[in-house]
Amino acid sequence: MDSIKVIAFDADDTLWVNEPFFREAEDAFCGLLEEYLPVHSTTRELFAVEMRNLPLYGYGIKAFTLSMIETLGRVTDGRAHFKLVERTLAIGRDMLEKPVEVLDGVEDTLRQLARSHRLVLATKGDLLDQERKLEKSGLARYFHHIEVMSDKREVNYRKLIAHLDCSPEQFMMVGNSVKSDVIPVLELGGYAVHVPFHTTWIHEEATYELANPKFLRAEKLTELLNHLS
Ligand SMILES: [Mg+2]
Repeated sequence: MDSIKVIAFDADDTLWVNEPFFREAEDAFCGLLEEYLPVHSTTRELFAVEMRNLPLYGYGIKAFTLSMIETLGRVTDGRAHFKLVERTLAIGRDMLEKPVEVLDGVEDTLRQLARSHRLVLATKGDLLDQERKLEKSGLARYFHHIEVMSDKREVNYRKLIAHLDCSPEQFMMVGNSVKSDVIPVLELGGYAVHVPFHTTWIHEEATYELANPKFLRAEKLTELLNHLS
């Protein structure tokens, strides 16, 4: 791992709490529609709408809010009172105003690694919302570069690595999603570290091969320090 020059970090559920806010919002939204449909059916309908909208809307809270409104229309067959639309919008707006809870040991790990490596933030989601969270987190000072990506596939990482003027062998990605943070980077020949979070969005779930010598699994972000410093 001596070749590693750049360490890129996923943000949501790697540096700070995110997915539980989505689950909370989803529960609140399904609660609004209980008289029309059981909660689990609304959840399934919402997920289907989100997946259909993903190529057009991308990731993040605004896209999620639009998908909730579309689901509201479908579930109520277009008969939902505008009050319900307003309450749905309020659920989305509340999400945008959540406090940022930085995970344990994150700041200390970044501070130490920033002495020896170039650190990058590589995240999906809304640009404005990610900037807000980074600002609130107080972690911005540790990063040389912030990249808000429309997606995290091989092609997106290839562009990022080229932009950072390094080779895949000099690049390590750290994140909670095997599908977005680990597999595409290993495929490119880079290093990847999976730091699991207790809640994972079903869209981010994936199985993976443990045998890759450039792959690490860490229970906590602080474990990185044992490998890299
Ligand atoms: Mg994440």
